[in-house]
Amino acid sequence: MAGFSLQLTDEQIQLRDWVHGFARDVMRPAAAEWDEREETPWPIIQEAAKIGLYGFDILANAHADETGLSLCLINEELFWGDAGLAMAIMGTSLAVAAIFGSGTPEQLFEWVPQCFGDATDPKVAAFCSTEPAAGSDVASMRTRAVYDEATDTWVLNGQKAFATNGGIANVHVVTASVDPELGARGQAAFVIPPGTPGLVGGKKYRKLGLRASHTADVYLDDVKVPGSCLLGGRERLLERLDRARRGERTGQQASMRTFELTRPGVGAQALGIGRAAYEYALDYARERVQFGRPIIDNQAVAFALADMRMELDAARLLVWRAAWMGRTGQPFTAGEGSMSKLKAGEVAVAVTEKAVQILGGAGYVRDHPVERWYRDAKIYTIFEGTSEIQRLVVARAISGRHIT
Ligand SMILES: Cc1cc2nc3c(=O)[nH]c(=O)nc-3n(C[C@H](O)[C@H](O)[C@H](O)COP(=O)(O)OP(=O)(O)OC[C@H]3O[C@@H](n4cnc5c(N)ncnc54)[C@H](O)[C@@H]3O)c2cc1C
Repeated sequence: MAGFSLQLTDEQIQLRDWVHGFARDVMRPAAAEWDEREETPWPIIQEAAKIGLYGFDILANAHADETGLSLCLINEELFWGDAGLAMAIMGTSLAVAAIFGSGTPEQLFEWVPQCFGDATDPKVAAFCSTEPAAGSDVASMRTRAVYDEATDTWVLNGQKAFATNGGIANVHVVTASVDPELGARGQAAFVIPPGTPGLVGGKKYRKLGLRASHTADVYLDDVKVPGSCLLGGRERLLERLDRARRGERTGQQASMRTFELTRPGVGAQALGIGRAAYEYALDYARERVQFGRPIIDNQAVAFALADMRMELDAARLLVWRAAWMGRTGQPFTAGEGSMSKLKAGEVAVAVTEKAVQILGGAGYVRDHPVERWYRDAKIYTIFEGTSEIQRLVVARAISGRHIT
């Protein structure tokens, strides 16, 4: 048995091709319209739910893949179809990942199905961590959660910003400080059940890209949830806070690992956008004639395409490596998860920019999708940790020093 292979299995190829078919036949034709409308594309989410492409089962099946590649394949194909529509489909998985990462098996069983709804009536979920004054600096979070022992109730107050699906979600997962003196180590995550009074959606942002995905502020005004909504439970929280107060290592390391685990999937999304732009530019360069020959016959254009392909393939190798490392339990000694998202995000920005250049004026107008892909790609150097924050993670990991 060979110890190393980059050959996808038959199941992986089948999965990839199935998602690709949906991306090509359902998402691509609808993409420009939803980008213009800047609304949540419920009919597309419903279509995805109907065929089993949106829901708990597909994520659970992908997770069962022992190589870790299935989720990367799904993400790359969906985002090849269209990033805004794909984020409307995959945004829920952020909240699900938080429940997976911190919740008990009972909480997983109770809340994850409610994140998705069912095939006939799909719902979305939101993960709300960012605040107006706490983006990269997560430790400065001001949202507070206070426990009332008499009623076994948590009361949350604060404001969240930039939440994907914020205010329109069935289930919101909200992070809050339970002990501000402990900074990031004094934070916890809570499920806010559907219809809980006090949680309201605020301003919806008008964005450069990903316009079919809803991004909004969320206000928490005396939001009361039962003790069972604290992810991981109170006992585990108290132990963690105790360790933090004694200055011992805490679950912070665990949450860093969770980020390292989810970042390859985000990198695969960026790859999908980049690959779409590369393929489109390659076709265009073969057909567009100037000076009596296809523009691809100029080295300047052909070399640009060669570089685009090489960078995408290099990024994919980093993404697949990190996904495999995460799934097989290898330690991320050099921040390999962050590295993969950093590389793929920056490649997506560079490749979509090059694609616009190769199309010339046609690349700048909405008659061709590269204009939209160029706008969509930029988010991948910003969210889920900016490129600078990814570099911090890698730099700290390789140096063992607290680089600031
Ligand atoms: C479309 C969209 C969807 C989003 N979805 C979600 C979501 O679902 N849930 C959620 O919680 N959040 C979400 N976010 C928020 C996103 O994660 C944050 O925008 C991101 O983490 C950056 O935070 P910030 O915008 O406050 O930037 P800031 O932290 O203010 O950073 C501004 C600049 O300063 C740099 N910088 C900051 N600190 C350092 C440092 N120490 N060293 C070097 N450079 C530094 C940054 O890299 C960046 O270039 C979303 C954002 C967008 C735009």
